[in-house]
Amino acid sequence: MDILLPYCNSLTKYSRLKTREGMVGKVGIGGNNPIRVQSMTVTNTMDTDATAKEAIRMIDAGCELVRITAPSIKEAHNLKNIKDELYICGYDVPLIADIHFTPNAAEIAAQIVEKVRINPGNYTDRKQFKVTEYTDSAYKEEIERIRSRFVPLIRICKRNKTAIRIGVNHGSLSDRIMSRYGDTPLGMVESGMEFVRICEKEKFYNIILSMKSSNPVVMVHANRLLAAKMIESGKVYPIHLGVTEAGEGEGGRIKSAIGIGTLLEDGIGDTIRVSLTEKPENEIPVAKMIVSRYAERKSYKSKNDLDVQPVNPFEFKRRESTTLNNVGGENPPRIIADFSRQKEIRPSELNAIGYKYLKDKWHISDQAADFIFVGDQSINFELPSGLAIIQNAEVWQNLKNSYPLFMSNEYFQTKSKKSNILNFVSINSSDIDVEIFEKIKAESTIILILETNNKHGMAEQRRFIFELIKNDISVPTIMKRNYSRLDTKQLLIDSSIDIGALLIDGLIDGVWLESNQSPQFINKTSFGILQATRSRITKTEYISCPSCGRTQFDLPEVTAQIRKETEHLKGVKIGIMGCIVNGPGEMADADYGYVGTGSGTIALYKGQKVIQKNIDTKDAVKALIDLIKEYRDWVEK
Ligand code: SF4
Repeated sequence: MDILLPYCNSLTKYSRLKTREGMVGKVGIGGNNPIRVQSMTVTNTMDTDATAKEAIRMIDAGCELVRITAPSIKEAHNLKNIKDELYICGYDVPLIADIHFTPNAAEIAAQIVEKVRINPGNYTDRKQFKVTEYTDSAYKEEIERIRSRFVPLIRICKRNKTAIRIGVNHGSLSDRIMSRYGDTPLGMVESGMEFVRICEKEKFYNIILSMKSSNPVVMVHANRLLAAKMIESGKVYPIHLGVTEAGEGEGGRIKSAIGIGTLLEDGIGDTIRVSLTEKPENEIPVAKMIVSRYAERKSYKSKNDLDVQPVNPFEFKRRESTTLNNVGGENPPRIIADFSRQKEIRPSELNAIGYKYLKDKWHISDQAADFIFVGDQSINFELPSGLAIIQNAEVWQNLKNSYPLFMSNEYFQTKSKKSNILNFVSINSSDIDVEIFEKIKAESTIILILETNNKHGMAEQRRFIFELIKNDISVPTIMKRNYSRLDTKQLLIDSSIDIGALLIDGLIDGVWLESNQSPQFINKTSFGILQATRSRITKTEYISCPSCGRTQFDLPEVTAQIRKETEHLKGVKIGIMGCIVNGPGEMADADYGYVGTGSGTIALYKGQKVIQKNIDTKDAVKALIDLIKEYRDWVEK
């Protein structure tokens, strides 16, 4: 049973999964090496000067390995010129060739650069989008065909001490894998393992694996399963982490941090790439912020390990909790806005959390908080419907839509005035105590506010919820984290990981971020985390590739244009992809696709089906809007 397969060393103590060491030139990956940071150039690989300059900007920002696309033989040959140019400029960071579809380009690149990344979904296969039944013998024949095409590359890599990354993408699994496993985490892992087995038969072990998806939930499940299968087999190769097509800005950072960070929390991951639809050097500080969280993590205090894991780590299933008002059960996770530090709360201040008072009535946005915590203060105006107050229990007055907040000892030990509808009870996740659990179980009006001051806090909070599950306690649980000492950049990363990791496993019913940053920023970040984990969809979802040497248009600019026109289309998923070679596969999850097909031309997709081809770039955004209208997903702003 997969559920019993361990995928990491510990669910409570921070401990990095020990892998074999892979060598990419002089840079070690996995083993005892630190978590490496890498990125990819977006220039045309034939433009040696531009590519070398871009690589230098990335390296100067802290990039330890530079990936460059090699779509055909001529680009593969030009990697030599780029490498020489970098060397002349005093840079000898290992280079990686990114290969899709072209084994002959891989074989040339492997003699020049330190690592070759291949995609098992398309190294020898062109995706037909056909689901064909494969008999066992037909499947075996396919594997033999792959072997004959892949072994020459392995032998070249062996001779040249070149590493291979077997880089699986959720959106470009082969028809063979799709027919047998579907586009599941298991399909992704098998896709990689087919190639690993061929390497092992050739006694080639300088392998790094990756399982990427634009959906952080799928990406996390696939990597956990990969780790579990490798632990089971006794050969654990280094793992490269990344969320593909994460997009730009805060949304891109949140998605990447959730996917990558959730795994790093459990010690999985030896090298990371944050893919943003921005300049590649912008990715590096984000990646370094993520990695920096684990530099000192070993020493943090931890609880005893768990004997049984009560949830399946390879599949999403929301924890069953009781419904109390609009919290828990089937309700989407709720957001608590913390206004306890405000001196006075006026109606206009609620703009920051999605409520605008205009022409004698409240206008409520899709990203409106559900509760406002006011501490000891009170609110002297009528609140919009949908927004309720949480007040410290000592001052709470049992007014309409107002609920008290107790500390757990206060709630359970005193006879203080309680609400007969809802009581918020704050508890520290280190307080795992049979007596308290029995008391919680006996209550029917409480919502837990789970806090932590452990530096390995996500694991501590998760362990508390596991204990609730094991004890059959279905109390709704809201996660609270205090980020008062963090600037906005680190807060974005830390909250995405700490909260996102719990949402990925469906464990919590709400989010409460405490900070001295603006309520608007906190509200936007909270909703961004819910959107990225698909726990609560409140805006348009963009799946845009980071671009590379194959890109056919200015991705950041076009993404900004499309976003401007469509960001009010709540729940619609739009893929914006730089090239036709990988774009349609990589945006498998999108409702609509905008894909570069040639210089100045775009193709539009509805799902996986191409609807219009050869649209001039200048007309393409309008054509996309028309397509969305045609399929009735358009609403006016
Ligand atoms: S989809 Fe984007 S990042 Fe991927 S190969 Fe095409 S242009 Fe490059």
